[in-house]
Amino acid sequence: MWKIPLSDINFDQKEVEAVQNVIYSGWLTMGEVTKDFEARFARYIGVEHAFAVSSCTSALHLAALALDIGEGDEVVCPSLTFVAAPNSIIYTRGKPVFADITSVTNLNISPEDIEKKITAKTKAIQIMHYAGIPCNMESITDLARKRGLPVIEDCAHSPGSEYKGKRCGSIGDIGCFSFFSNKNMTTGEGGMITTNDENIAKKIRTLRSHGMTTLTLDRHKGHAFSYDVTALGFNYRLDEIHSALGIVQLEKLQKSNERRLTLATKYQQALSEIQGLSVISGNGISVSSNHILPVLLPEEIDRAKFMEYMKQNGIQTSIHYPPAHLFDFYRRMYGYKEGMLPLTEEVSKREVTLPLYPSMNEDSVSIVCDAVREYFKKELI
Ligand SMILES: *Cc1c(COP(=O)(O)O)cnc(C)c1O
Repeated sequence: MWKIPLSDINFDQKEVEAVQNVIYSGWLTMGEVTKDFEARFARYIGVEHAFAVSSCTSALHLAALALDIGEGDEVVCPSLTFVAAPNSIIYTRGKPVFADITSVTNLNISPEDIEKKITAKTKAIQIMHYAGIPCNMESITDLARKRGLPVIEDCAHSPGSEYKGKRCGSIGDIGCFSFFSNKNMTTGEGGMITTNDENIAKKIRTLRSHGMTTLTLDRHKGHAFSYDVTALGFNYRLDEIHSALGIVQLEKLQKSNERRLTLATKYQQALSEIQGLSVISGNGISVSSNHILPVLLPEEIDRAKFMEYMKQNGIQTSIHYPPAHLFDFYRRMYGYKEGMLPLTEEVSKREVTLPLYPSMNEDSVSIVCDAVREYFKKELI
């Protein structure tokens, strides 16, 4: 239907073979392939432990559980993010307390506003590296250390992003990754949780699989006959088929992130001449995974009309994000309302995401930029 879609998967014969191998192996879940995927992912991110899980949402839930977030506990987090992130805090009866973004050109959570939102009830800080651009982790981890608070990194946008020589997901206490179909690496559905903390790792290992003390594979191998249940756990496992896809996708990640950077740079050059339009990009110091290509429209441009025009031209666009604090559920649950987070609210009205994916060609970038230019010419005269 779209001439140029918002995103596209990067699969070939390698993924097909990887899945076939698992099917012929006769072992479908929590086996050697998943272990291999976890070991490779841990090495890539630079952490001691990585646990493959069914989604980033389950990773975020496990993170909240592992940090003992419960009734009456507050977690300071961004509103300009996917709703799964604040939802995960509520799963364990915690309360998401939203902090504003840094500015209209830096859409990551503001360390200054995090500090303002910390109270005696604050139990953790959850951050998200928007579009793959790393947050100001130096300020955030300094503040967290000073206040004795753990940091959860939502890395759904940022596999491969780096801040001062460290990969996102290795800087805070826990990293949560998504392998949903539109992410930089995908297994269809899937996720990973990373940590260097032995205690947290132990909790996650148990909670991921029903709180049980032994695994199916241990029993299959005759290492164990029974098990105890030590906590209220979940089935958040990733199976061998998804893990096999993950191994191939991880091998492709560096190259596809490089391709994303080339295309994002071309977008920046082509769009820089348009008055009033700004491309959200990194600071050139940290490394971005370029998960998405967000732009801010000038206030006088009607976003819905602009997106409709792009659609007429066969170009898919999207919005990242409607602010979480203004969703009906959050308004009713916590009484959150307009005016709480001025910068988040302004950006969420003006932001549009343009197509970006590794298999996109340079001509398609030109087609998108030409369409934007045409629309602005008509609208602004
Ligand atoms: C995609 C996404 C999630 C949720 O990931 P799932 O794997 O679909 O559960 C969470 N946070 C952000 C920022 C995301 O983009």
